[in-house]
Amino acid sequence: MVAAAQAFSAQPQSTQTPAAPAQLAPQASTPATQPTTPAPAQPALEPTAPPQKTLAVVILDPAHGGADPGARGSSGLAESDIVLSYARLVRISLEAQGIRVLLTRQANDDPSFDDRSKLANAQRGGVFITLHVSSTGQPGTVRVYSLPQMMAQPSAAPAPHTGLLPWDRAQFKFIDQSRRLAELIQIQMAQRFRGSSETPFEAPVRQLRTVGAPAVAIEVSSVSVPDRAPLDQMGPGLADAVARAVAAFRTIYESGGK
Ligand SMILES: [Zn+2]
Repeated sequence: MVAAAQAFSAQPQSTQTPAAPAQLAPQASTPATQPTTPAPAQPALEPTAPPQKTLAVVILDPAHGGADPGARGSSGLAESDIVLSYARLVRISLEAQGIRVLLTRQANDDPSFDDRSKLANAQRGGVFITLHVSSTGQPGTVRVYSLPQMMAQPSAAPAPHTGLLPWDRAQFKFIDQSRRLAELIQIQMAQRFRGSSETPFEAPVRQLRTVGAPAVAIEVSSVSVPDRAPLDQMGPGLADAVARAVAAFRTIYESGGK
């Protein structure tokens, strides 16, 4: 589940937009009152993301695991088990597209949020996909999430000029790409799983905040089914959908588009 409290950060931060163009009204021609000087934007306080021309690797994150089973169905189904089997199938489909894949966990253990992000952030040209199964929702459907713009913004307060990007802002520079990736995956899901939305969702998924790469969450519905057969049956379609969407995203990514 991504919509559970545990997967969320506490609260949305300030809704202020930083450096909002507050004076939209026509101004007298006194640009000298503007606090900033040259027209071209200066480099941000944080280093800009390095040019990333090649989508080199997909980091698949089977959520939960270990002591954290995630969503539990009345039949004993555990989200943590199902997402691991999904990750293995998605890996095969992505590798068939010639895309390298890393998993944040291979077995029933539970790396921390930061450990999972750390694996992604150590890669160049990575894309991060966290996999969930919901506790509720229309069985047989899939929802794809990216982080809302509001959640990824740097705070209004200027950061200490350390040159280091705080982890909780890591997603900020990738929010548009993440949304694009979410769109591409969601449309593939809608074509395969009747009742799925054709447009993706935004939610403050905790895991995504600390990933410095295009990052989305995929949530399959749901553990409420009487046994895992219907969920297993979704696996191949899910894997194919992700592989096709990532292949399409790779073309956009490597052309420098959003
Ligand atoms: Zn989950």
